[in-house]
Amino acid sequence: MQVSLETRDFAKYPFLKESQQFMLQNHESVDRFLQSSAGKVAIRYAVERVQRALSHAGQTIEIERIPLPSDSLGVRLEVSSYALARLLVSCGKERALIDRLTRYEALRACAFLEGEDDGKRAYVASQIGFSLGRLSLPVSRYVEITAAMREERWRLVNREVEDGNVAIEPLEAEELLKEQIRVTLLSQLPLDVPQSLCEEMAPYVSRIQDAFQQKMLEDFGEVEESCFPPCMQAIMSALSGGLNITHSGRFALTAFLHNIGMDGAQIIELYCRAPDFDVSKTQYQVEHISGRGGTGTEYTAPSCAAMRTLGLCVRPDAGCEKVNHPLNYYRSRKKGKKAKPN
Ligand code: SF4
Repeated sequence: MQVSLETRDFAKYPFLKESQQFMLQNHESVDRFLQSSAGKVAIRYAVERVQRALSHAGQTIEIERIPLPSDSLGVRLEVSSYALARLLVSCGKERALIDRLTRYEALRACAFLEGEDDGKRAYVASQIGFSLGRLSLPVSRYVEITAAMREERWRLVNREVEDGNVAIEPLEAEELLKEQIRVTLLSQLPLDVPQSLCEEMAPYVSRIQDAFQQKMLEDFGEVEESCFPPCMQAIMSALSGGLNITHSGRFALTAFLHNIGMDGAQIIELYCRAPDFDVSKTQYQVEHISGRGGTGTEYTAPSCAAMRTLGLCVRPDAGCEKVNHPLNYYRSRKKGKKAKPN
């Protein structure tokens, strides 16, 4: 497919190989680039990029809100900021931060794609392995793209499947493309960044970690057990009642409590209610799930679909009808409570 990309396109779609080649024209090492005046601007842009990703909550981005340079130097800085933002979140080792950045990048790219002609749209889509013209996808591909899409309509049992292909509507192709970009970018992270480089970028990493922490506190605020979804309340009651909780139940509860901002000591205190409580084992599990263990991976509580599969979605109530994640249930109950003080 012959499509000519303009310089500004590199800033719009920094994940394309052409954009990376454009940025690498100087063949400079990252360390040297960071010392240069352009590098100092680019790292500032990178921090701002991650901060924008953190503060963006919607499902779309208005194109007017996305800074887009017009000259070649500006484009180089913009593409560099994308690359540096990926390095920053990789050094930060917060899974949720990586999720936020990749979601934002996918929304950002799709906002630009909406204004492109068919040829360019199809070309960009093809570069991340998505064929925009097709109205069906092989089952394995469909499952890979939709694994994190929680609406019932995306579940394979609700789809028309013929000869190993899942039919898709033209309007759905856009949603799938957005998800494909997110999934592709997510699969590339975290990057294996040398420790020395992470140390050099430590002040910037710490700035985005602070912004992330602040966002978490704004989103969740003080922990309120009365706003927990039924599934988490059930696991907590079972714990207090001396029932043996499965590994997946403990994982779901611990990740949930960590995600809403409870610290490790508070979580361990909750587990003291369990009859088989073992402090060192519990401490190890809590540290592992919250990303302070060996791998540095921070886990997110399972979605409602995953909770259902694990047999942990119990006594769903009316509040569950509007959410696809226990964290969303908690967030919305807290918001509702704030709006209607007693
Ligand atoms: S629907 Fe979701 S939030 Fe509600 S009980 Fe089930 S898993 Fe929990």
